[in-house]
Amino acid sequence: MRYVDSMTKGCSLSIPTNFNYPLKAQVAKEPPAPILCGVKGCENKKKYSCSKTGVPLCSLNCYKKNLLCHSNPNQPIIVT
Ligand SMILES: [Zn+2]
Repeated sequence: MRYVDSMTKGCSLSIPTNFNYPLKAQVAKEPPAPILCGVKGCENKKKYSCSKTGVPLCSLNCYKKNLLCHSNPNQPIIVT
């Protein structure tokens, strides 16, 4: 498994490839612990990850918010 961190442009998610953090464990099956949406202010469960940023997302709406964040540094992502 390999996470290509160079795809992360703009804001802030720079985690080493070997950093075994649950948010980056993009396995095919559902992880045992629920992962929450990575968009600020959203507490829904993760349904998929942004292909550009790797941020966990719950909906298309949060996908858009996430991309907005990446174009606006004043709205940092809260990764829980
Ligand atoms: Zn969300």
